[in-house]
Amino acid sequence: MSKKIIIANWKMNPLTFKEAEKLFANVAKEVSEIKKTEIVVCPPFIYLEKLKKLSRKISLGAQDAFWNEVGAFTGEVSALMLENFGVKYVILGHSERRALGETNIDINRKLKSAISAGLLPILCIGENDRDENHEYFNFVKSQLLESISGIPKNLLYKITIAYEPVWAISTTFNRRDATPTDSKEMTIFIRKIISDKLGAGMKMPRIIYGGSVNNRDAGEFLEHGGVEGLLVGKASLDVKKFTDIVKIAENEND
Ligand code: PEP
Repeated sequence: MSKKIIIANWKMNPLTFKEAEKLFANVAKEVSEIKKTEIVVCPPFIYLEKLKKLSRKISLGAQDAFWNEVGAFTGEVSALMLENFGVKYVILGHSERRALGETNIDINRKLKSAISAGLLPILCIGENDRDENHEYFNFVKSQLLESISGIPKNLLYKITIAYEPVWAISTTFNRRDATPTDSKEMTIFIRKIISDKLGAGMKMPRIIYGGSVNNRDAGEFLEHGGVEGLLVGKASLDVKKFTDIVKIAENEND
């Protein structure tokens, strides 16, 4: 397994740059001794430039990127603009964006432009709920295959696939806890889909888990969830919780 990756999705938080700077600086201070774990923070777009100057250890990610490079697309930010800005990662297909109408076709276009701009995409997939007939496996399979359609096989490894069951995300109404077994089952399924597509000998994308991960269960997900990292939402806004998760991952790397 490759080096673990811990990604903070700050979503539309915090409200002021002052708070963002404090949160980022405190995280950077706490992780100064971390050597083997990749740490990524995805803040709102407008904080990226200033945060970039605060740490060389923490990579920056955006939370979306448009598929065209430049032009008349009011309100959008392109993957190439972000890359030019020193951003390394971009979250694409997050369930909160899908809920606003983003489709697998949109996500496919965004993935292609992100890869060609030189960004490393974090592709979020996951079912809204689970049904007794296990149809959710087909749902996740379609999300995955439609999102990566037409991307050359030798580039697929650049994508980090984040399995995020929507029913386990902290802000979902009536959310339930997912278990490392839920994650393990789905990651086996995802790996099989990708390896069937790639064939033998090709570099595989990394798979991570997200959905209400905190400093109490991060170790369990990393050890038994079949993943090489975690995408952390709510807990990433808390310096102690987030940096505890990073430290747990660092120990897992030993
Ligand atoms: C997310 O929405 O990407 C996420 C992981 O959120 P949370 O950890 O708050 O469930």
